[in-house]
Amino acid sequence: TDQARPEGAAPAPVLILVERAYGPAAGGAPDFREADPSAAQLLVTDFVATRGDGVFETLGAFDGTLANVGPHLDRLTRSAAMIDLAGPDHDVLRAALEAAVAAHPPVPELTVRLSLTRGVEGSGVPSCWIHARVADDYAPARAGLSVVSLDRGLPTTAPASSPWLLAGAKTLSYAVNMAVLREAQRRGAEEVLFVSSEGYALEGPTSTLLVRLGDRWVTTPVDAGVLPGTSVASAFALLRAEGAECGEELLTIEQVREADAAWLLSSGRLAAPIRQLDGVDLPVDAALTARLGDAIAGRA
Ligand code: PLP
Repeated sequence: TDQARPEGAAPAPVLILVERAYGPAAGGAPDFREADPSAAQLLVTDFVATRGDGVFETLGAFDGTLANVGPHLDRLTRSAAMIDLAGPDHDVLRAALEAAVAAHPPVPELTVRLSLTRGVEGSGVPSCWIHARVADDYAPARAGLSVVSLDRGLPTTAPASSPWLLAGAKTLSYAVNMAVLREAQRRGAEEVLFVSSEGYALEGPTSTLLVRLGDRWVTTPVDAGVLPGTSVASAFALLRAEGAECGEELLTIEQVREADAAWLLSSGRLAAPIRQLDGVDLPVDAALTARLGDAIAGRA
């Protein structure tokens, strides 16, 4: 459902096809163009359709301003490198992202997804597009989530021992990340905290773990196989500016259950407090949650 809009009244999404993700246009062709978001645009032989072979980013735009564009583009390049795709042209993508937001009617919160795939089989040319739509209503999640911890089945050493598993890459093979949410629902919870095979807390299927232990703020080490979150970087910047100690540290799931507070952070939903983990209640601080959210949204 869209933000407090009557059924059917949400503005149409915006689609931008990026023709020149790898450098300036030859012969004056535009780098990107708007296309009909309700018409078919992708060939069925695109590797993303046949193999889920591609990478993506989801950005938030708040009151018409995109948050954390540079970090998102840097992470897209990192994910692309992990699947042996060349890094796309950041200047072109930045202009295309801004064009997508500008083409959308003004709304408080937009979800902007940037996809880069290996392209049509045999072409050797990646496909790239941007889709901007009104954000889901995240108010319930921002009030607090009931979370269940589920085993990801990988040790924290997987990135070093088996980099081909792509732990920590934001790939377009997110069926597992969606399946685990359905499992959470079957277990009566709303969200998931992935746990490593050794019992360490990792991340959510689309979010980064932030834990408060007294005056210390902790997130999962990136080398344990989690996505480097842009939101947790924004949260740490705010907290460090206020003098708090922030860092990466492996925590067992028991340590998270006993923490002073914990959140799942992400670019669209912002800061969602964990109000319950595996049936254990955690304290929720609404004012602090709102401040963390503002920092992630670039409103702080
Ligand atoms: N971890 C995973 C697996 C994700 O998919 C995401 C975002 O979708 C995040 C963490 C949070 O990243 P960010 O804060 O940059 O949105």
